Amino acid sequence: DPGAISDLVESRLRDVADFPKPGVVFKDITPLLGDPAAFGEVVRALAARHTESGSRLDSVAGVEARGFIIGAALAHELGVGFVPVRKAGKLPGETVQRTYDLEYGSATIEVHADAVEPGERVLLVDDVLATGGTAIAAWDLLDDCGAEVVEFATVVELAFLGGREAMGARPVHSLHVVG
Ligand code: AMP
Repeated sequence: DPGAISDLVESRLRDVADFPKPGVVFKDITPLLGDPAAFGEVVRALAARHTESGSRLDSVAGVEARGFIIGAALAHELGVGFVPVRKAGKLPGETVQRTYDLEYGSATIEVHADAVEPGERVLLVDDVLATGGTAIAAWDLLDDCGAEVVEFATVVELAFLGGREAMGARPVHSLHVVG
């Protein structure tokens, strides 16, 4: 039940004002992660639409760092592998990169060049969708590697920041929408 899952997520989120900088309300998922029943519910809710769809899914990709936590649990639940999308300079092998604009400056993310097979069907995951900049860069990076990204899944969507619109034709699934 989407309403029940949304309420559950809301009840296990902590809003931290002015973190990491003034004016930002940080959506802290650590209360959710610390509650095994709630964490399990969330992972099963993210997995259900893919087990029920009947279409093939080959891997889950998660964005550093909180996308690793949700994504690794989700990959395990779905019985597929996990692909880490990392900040530049962390992966030991040959990588493919994307650089994207932030409010101030830019950020670079990367994956191993051999992380996905051509045509591999990948579910992309993060904890929070804000402006969409990170999700778009990660999606396009996986696309550069030949993957077919099927959806961006997130626990929390900050709708007032317009991430879903910025994502354009890339499908977004969120469990809890704020604003
Ligand atoms: P964006 O690229 O603007 O969509 O930002 C998304 C990334 O930044 C995700 O990896 C989130 O974990 C993190 N993030 C952005 N805004 C917030 C927020 N208000 N609370 C928690 N995480 C956030």
